[in-house]
Amino acid sequence: MPTHRLSQRVRALPASQTLALAARAKALKAEGQPIIDYSVGEPDFDTPAVALEGAREAIARGDTHYPPVPGTLALRKAVLADLERRFAWRGTPEQVLVSTGAKHTLYNLFQALLDPGDEVVFASPYWVSYPAMIELAGGRAIPVPTRAEDGFRIDPAAVEGAMGARTKILLLNSPSNPTGAVTPPEEVEALCRLAFDRGVFVVSDEIYRELVFDGAVHRGVLEVQHPRAAELALLVDGVSKAYAMTGWRIGWAVGPKDVLAAASKIQSQSTSGACTIAQAAAAAAVAGAGADTARMRDAFARRREQLVAALERIPGVKVPRAQGAFYAFPDLSAYYGSTIDGAAVTGSESLSEVLLEKAHVAAVAGAGFGADAHLRFSYALDDRLMLEGIERVAGVLARATPGVRA
Ligand code: PMP
Ligand code: GLU
Repeated sequence: MPTHRLSQRVRALPASQTLALAARAKALKAEGQPIIDYSVGEPDFDTPAVALEGAREAIARGDTHYPPVPGTLALRKAVLADLERRFAWRGTPEQVLVSTGAKHTLYNLFQALLDPGDEVVFASPYWVSYPAMIELAGGRAIPVPTRAEDGFRIDPAAVEGAMGARTKILLLNSPSNPTGAVTPPEEVEALCRLAFDRGVFVVSDEIYRELVFDGAVHRGVLEVQHPRAAELALLVDGVSKAYAMTGWRIGWAVGPKDVLAAASKIQSQSTSGACTIAQAAAAAAVAGAGADTARMRDAFARRREQLVAALERIPGVKVPRAQGAFYAFPDLSAYYGSTIDGAAVTGSESLSEVLLEKAHVAAVAGAGFGADAHLRFSYALDDRLMLEGIERVAGVLARATPGVRA
């Protein structure tokens, strides 16, 4: 009998910090605590009506049997039609693999591409699940630091310096979770060229592509022209953020057929095809929910202004101005080393804990994103609550000893 009940793999694995805090916030709310929840990256809007109708039609026609493993033809064609409409990219259905959320898409791709010791280079701060998923596949996560002072700009020279003989994937995420940073088009081009020139895959997580503000331009990996792009460029996308459809669990990859066939093989031995009804809803959203997305974008743009302004009024808090996604990522490290109502604030995790207990505010510690100076506040919540929560945060931080000056 082996000595451990659980595998080495799972013992080394942290649980998702974003989902853990969100679950805690929900549980405290259910107990009657007045929690204001900035934790989970999930739009607070309802699923667009066209998507609901798509799902109803799927149920009505009895579309309730096993789906094809790589996704329904209807959804794969809707994804292709959208890419063609947006930037004249043309592909075939074999170049689209639908999975149970973009997280699953990323998981499958890492499983399909990484051998033990293969490296994945990506910018830090990073989404909490990247290192975990890479390591589960036996790969090595190679974060490249970026700085808040530079707007979390990714320096192509630093990325080049991080690439070595074992680099298999350059993982991009613009707009970024957790920083909201949008990589400028010319830098996306430069980063992709660096990878393609070396035969390195670019996995580009563009799940927040629709949520860019201030006229910032999103450049997708499939738009980059390079002789090796067709064999090395992989887009990751889904309906969670653009259409507020987190619970439907639909994401997809677009890219070279051989890689997607390999990822599909993994999917065939694990989850099979994604839910038929959810795929029908997703296809309807991709084809017809553009106006809903635009409305959500406008709401997020307004809230971003309000949230950043409110956070900036708190003494000692620095708020990088990001142009995308729906996260503010303030630097609260001025409060580290202080005590609040007897609790020592030593870093982002203890501050997140203090804010939950004393302000009834849930904000994710930056530590899990590789940035302990910061906390992540999602602005995917009601405007009024969003501002009330920051007042509570300011009130609690004002009790810090020693205090922090503006
Ligand atoms: N990528 C990033 C950067 C994310 O923030 C998320 C969070 N939902 C995902 C991928 C996965 O999204 P989903 O699985 O809901 O499609
Ligand atoms: N991606 C979102 C977040 O970062 C949803 C939760 C998750 O899957 O991590 O909060």
